[in-house]
Amino acid sequence: MGKFCSSLTHYARRTTRQVSVRGHKIGGLAPVLVQTMTNTRTLDTEGSVAQIEAIARSGGKLVRLTTRDEREAQNLAPIGEGVRRHFPDVALVADVHFVPQVAAVAATTADKVRINPGNYNDRGGKFEELIELCRERGVALRIGVNHGSLAKKIFDLYGDTPEGMAASAMEFLERCRELDFHNVVVSLKSSNVRVMVYAYRLLVKAMAEAGMDYPVHLGVTEAGNLLEGRVKSAVGIGALLADGIGDTIRVSLTEAPENEIPAAQKLVAHFASRPEEHFPEVDESLFAAYEYTPRPFGTTPVLWSEVANPEEYEVVEAVSHHPVQEWRSRLVGSAPTKPVILHRRYTTANLYDFAIEAAADLGVMFIDSLADGIRIENPNFSQEEIDEIALLILQAARVRISRTEYIACPSCGRTLYDIESTLAAIKERTSHLVGLKIGVMGCIVNGPGEMADADYGYVGGLPDHISLYRGKTLVERNVPQGEAIDRLVALIKADGRWTDPN
Ligand code: SF4
Repeated sequence: MGKFCSSLTHYARRTTRQVSVRGHKIGGLAPVLVQTMTNTRTLDTEGSVAQIEAIARSGGKLVRLTTRDEREAQNLAPIGEGVRRHFPDVALVADVHFVPQVAAVAATTADKVRINPGNYNDRGGKFEELIELCRERGVALRIGVNHGSLAKKIFDLYGDTPEGMAASAMEFLERCRELDFHNVVVSLKSSNVRVMVYAYRLLVKAMAEAGMDYPVHLGVTEAGNLLEGRVKSAVGIGALLADGIGDTIRVSLTEAPENEIPAAQKLVAHFASRPEEHFPEVDESLFAAYEYTPRPFGTTPVLWSEVANPEEYEVVEAVSHHPVQEWRSRLVGSAPTKPVILHRRYTTANLYDFAIEAAADLGVMFIDSLADGIRIENPNFSQEEIDEIALLILQAARVRISRTEYIACPSCGRTLYDIESTLAAIKERTSHLVGLKIGVMGCIVNGPGEMADADYGYVGGLPDHISLYRGKTLVERNVPQGEAIDRLVALIKADGRWTDPN
């Protein structure tokens, strides 16, 4: 019977086969590889080369580019030549969503091709053709499933669920195995951190049961920016890295792509040097690893600064190098008589690094419903800063909603407006609307599908024109960008979901 993680007594990476992308190793004994994606136009050779060079200077060696049509797929060749004048070891990944023919061209110009099986209509053996092209040039393949864009037959069977995401990936992994093609990486991304964690766990379990050891690419989509984007990514990616799952990661931020690299490196470093401390074995069947179960006390998770009577709580401090396993070994299977507050001390001096560490350690404990509160200490930061991080962790785990949730795409070559400044402007108008979920998406091609369960969507329709959504329903098409935020606010007001800021 497969388990979702390779060890529940000490820290160990899941055993995977090694995939090679232009000499970069993913899986096996290789360190977790960090990667990012450009947001330039893929037909803009000079702009793309300049951005990839900036990424390479910040340490990113695997760079993905939106590849929408055959011209863009062809243009990966001159971009690669340009980049390699100064950075010979940078590998380029073609991100193909819809058209098998585009993937086939990309297999002749890129080092790796990502396909979304949900959109990959492979009638006529197109998938087999792609595999042969990849095999010929030693090109790697990523089976990249996204929550919100599952194939119809999977959707009809499972709905838009973690089970459906894992089943979609398994179908294509089986086909790779039948074709004896193993230069394959797999991902199952979602902007909903819980969905993402459950989906990867199900996939890893299914792979173990099927005798597969393909490496895994981790990411939370549309995580947003600044502290919020980093915490959301670190909760999702950290939850899996804590169990040794993950061979390459992307921290997707609505910021310049080169900013993603240090955030991803921090996350990798946090798990890379863990001394082998052993803990009593934890029975994974005793906690909810694949769906959320509420806590027995039914209370909203608290911050330590809010606690008036400490004796009403059980404070459990983790002091080892593997806090998740230490907490689990003390909490799983026990029936607490008081609500449990998790305690962890940090000394990290950089705010973003501290937030990433805390989110990677604590978030999973709330996803798995093993705790009722947070006590974080760090002498370098004020109580307000610490509380802000704790609230963001609880929001990412979806157990305490204290602010508006923004599902903002990181932007890419498809983006039709400046997302970073627009997201800031939308936040300024709406950040007091606690609990509302607003999708801010660069393009209409993938935006509506990938903003998942957002209440409202602000989506690039035409250049400098925005389409507005209520849930998944288009309500205003191609509003000039200058008017779009006002119209979004008007829509929220008309629905009776607006409150005035304090
Ligand atoms: S929503 Fe569109 S613009 Fe945004 S990252 Fe996805 S494909 Fe690119």
